[in-house]
Amino acid sequence: MSGARDALVVGGGLAGLASAYALHEAGYRVEVLERREDVALETSFANGGILTPSMPDPWNAPGVHWRLLRWLGREDAPMLLRPGAIPGYFGWGLKFLAASSPDSFNASMRANYRLCAYSLERLRAWRAALDLEYAQSTHGTLEVYRDPRSFAQAVHELATLAPLGLEGTPLDPAGTARLEPLLDEVQADLAGAIHFPADESGDAWLFCRALRERLVARGVTLRLDTRVSGVRIAGGRAAGVETAGGFLPASQVVLAAGPWSRELLAACGVRIAVRPVKGYSLSIPIDPASGPRHALSDDSLHAVMTPLGATLRLAGTAEFSGWDLTLRPKRVEALWRLLAALSPTLARQVERATARPWCGLRPMSADGRPYVGASDVPGLYVNTGHGHLGWTQAAGSATLLAQLMTGAPAAIDPRPFALARTERRAWRAEIQAAEQPS
Ligand SMILES: Cc1cc2nc3c(=O)[nH]c(=O)nc-3n(C[C@H](O)[C@H](O)[C@H](O)COP(=O)(O)OP(=O)(O)OC[C@H]3O[C@@H](n4cnc5c(N)ncnc54)[C@H](O)[C@@H]3O)c2cc1C
Repeated sequence: MSGARDALVVGGGLAGLASAYALHEAGYRVEVLERREDVALETSFANGGILTPSMPDPWNAPGVHWRLLRWLGREDAPMLLRPGAIPGYFGWGLKFLAASSPDSFNASMRANYRLCAYSLERLRAWRAALDLEYAQSTHGTLEVYRDPRSFAQAVHELATLAPLGLEGTPLDPAGTARLEPLLDEVQADLAGAIHFPADESGDAWLFCRALRERLVARGVTLRLDTRVSGVRIAGGRAAGVETAGGFLPASQVVLAAGPWSRELLAACGVRIAVRPVKGYSLSIPIDPASGPRHALSDDSLHAVMTPLGATLRLAGTAEFSGWDLTLRPKRVEALWRLLAALSPTLARQVERATARPWCGLRPMSADGRPYVGASDVPGLYVNTGHGHLGWTQAAGSATLLAQLMTGAPAAIDPRPFALARTERRAWRAEIQAAEQPS
């Protein structure tokens, strides 16, 4: 590569491919390096498929430590901390717990909301410009609640985010069943639901493959089977990356390698608080007419059920178990229970043997906000740590990154996502002041 505006993007998942497109659009000559034989074979392969500005809350809500303790070692818990994995999460875990104060949680939720909403705006523009097909749906999500207290809390959260632009309609059980007839038979189990009409859904893997095709057609180089072993720093700035095939020079390097980014960054002296948090999914072939019309999220089971064309995707559960990618039958069983809890009829109809279980590692930041922007090493940039929101935030984070790299005005406040989390107090205070009713 030659010339000033060239960028190497490490990682061919949602974050890497989206970064590549945004940088290409911003005028960079881009090369993507992916260690696997194709794009989106890690965490972006079979996620829950929902694009949800409506769910910007980090997982460390106030009181999370009590929930983690209560669920410790319980195989059917929505959030499971494996005692053997505790040492690997120690420092990160302390930050995760520290960020669960109401103040920190609320600030992260608001910052995430802005990024999610901006991201959907960008995704719609990309979809139109590139004519992307990825089993998308724009019917919104329906978040269902079984416990009246959680429902009331969610309605309160909706009111908190409404001034920022979040639209949602609380529904009683009968209204829920009218909107989503599939839920009619479980109406009696529900306390209510909220319909979020601006949410979308779609298959992230199909999206990545469609984007890969458009990138290649536009001259972006994609090197598969290319593992980056390190970033070379020369003269105090990033000079390129090391691979088994040799050194690849570049004036800008973007690390978008999911939870694996942390180690590559640490070798450059850059620290980010990101750890892998495992999640599961089940992909079930169905007749689309028999499935739900909306993507459904079940608050009490902490899981989602998303129609993706002729596939029904069930996804959820968070397991703090390090890098382990074992598919544990009890965790998969929890997803079958979700299907039975949302639609007993569908659960009886589908053929279990045709379902494809999967698990992947979310790149989870300790404070629930992704890392997007420059590192302390000139020329070295980061786009990772999106945790459970990586599909929702992909297009927005990538565009923000490109704005930061080119010096263009940032469309949203980038400070909550900066690598140095030191400006936290300033942006939190500003957000709070701006949102006070005048
Ligand atoms: C069960 C589950 C359900 C989810 N549901 C949703 C959802 O409904 N909505 C939502 O918004 N988000 C969801 N997510 C989160 C979302 O899927 C992730 O945040 C997102 O896929 C992360 O994308 P990524 O590109 O950062 O990571 P990845 O997809 O893992 O991509 C990183 C890539 O970097 C490559 N790589 C790593 N190291 C190197 C190296 N040294 N050299 C070269 N390449 C390297 C990897 O091979 C990989 O392809 C879910 C996640 C899970 C696990």
